[in-house]
Amino acid sequence: MADKITVGYTHLSGCTGCTVALADNYAGLLTLLDKYVDLKYMPTLADARHIQQVDVSFVEGSVCINDKLAVEEIKETREKSAIVVALGGCACYGNITRFTRGGQQNQPQHESYLPIGDLIKVDVYIPGCAPTPELIRNVAVMAYLLLKGTKEQKDLATAFLTPLMKLAAKNEACGCDLIVDVINQGLCMGCGSCAASCPVRAITMEYGKPNVERDLCIKCGACSAQCPRGFFNTDVISQYEAINEAIMAALQ
Ligand code: SF4
Ligand code: SF4
Repeated sequence: MADKITVGYTHLSGCTGCTVALADNYAGLLTLLDKYVDLKYMPTLADARHIQQVDVSFVEGSVCINDKLAVEEIKETREKSAIVVALGGCACYGNITRFTRGGQQNQPQHESYLPIGDLIKVDVYIPGCAPTPELIRNVAVMAYLLLKGTKEQKDLATAFLTPLMKLAAKNEACGCDLIVDVINQGLCMGCGSCAASCPVRAITMEYGKPNVERDLCIKCGACSAQCPRGFFNTDVISQYEAINEAIMAALQ
């Protein structure tokens, strides 16, 4: 077994649901920590709370630009990480924090929030509100195989991570993406995954196709990430079994 990868977890503005999703891997999380991940810092799961030099940083939450510390934290995270992963809708797209107008009891001056990609270069996006525990786990395993695996494992990890890297080119998401990218292209097969994944029930299935209530959409990107016709590209689909086997073998 090669060395573990070093991992950090920067926690910015959000509901901590992504931390809960990570913890929901239960035994899978223990396997990750036992075999693959040396967790260097994380406010909730590790004692060390200062940002350190790491291979991979996961960032949960958006950046409050009224909070100097948060802006410094995201910049320091970028400087000290080889790979930065935006974890969840808030880090990727701003999500519900985009709608904040200040006046919260504890921090009334906190008015404006940006997805982390507006301030730093981000390498991988994991959308969702919250992302599924399995997706977080799989990205961690694939990051390990990318950095420490054999040539064949690196190729599989690249195939798996490429669509998530492509997502990092765009800091906005909306339920409308489904309409433009999937439904209008004639690709929707009416599976309902988008509706099931929407945390605010902005999508209902009508006559076998999704209907997006745009006023309800909090722009988390979960629906597009879950759509089997709009997200994973053919490279992933054609190597799906090998990718799945690599992940399952790693978690034995
Ligand atoms: S429609 Fe729902 S799942 Fe899709 S981006 Fe909007 S809030 Fe997120
Ligand atoms: S997840 Fe994609 S394919 Fe499935 S119903 Fe929604 S838009 Fe259609």
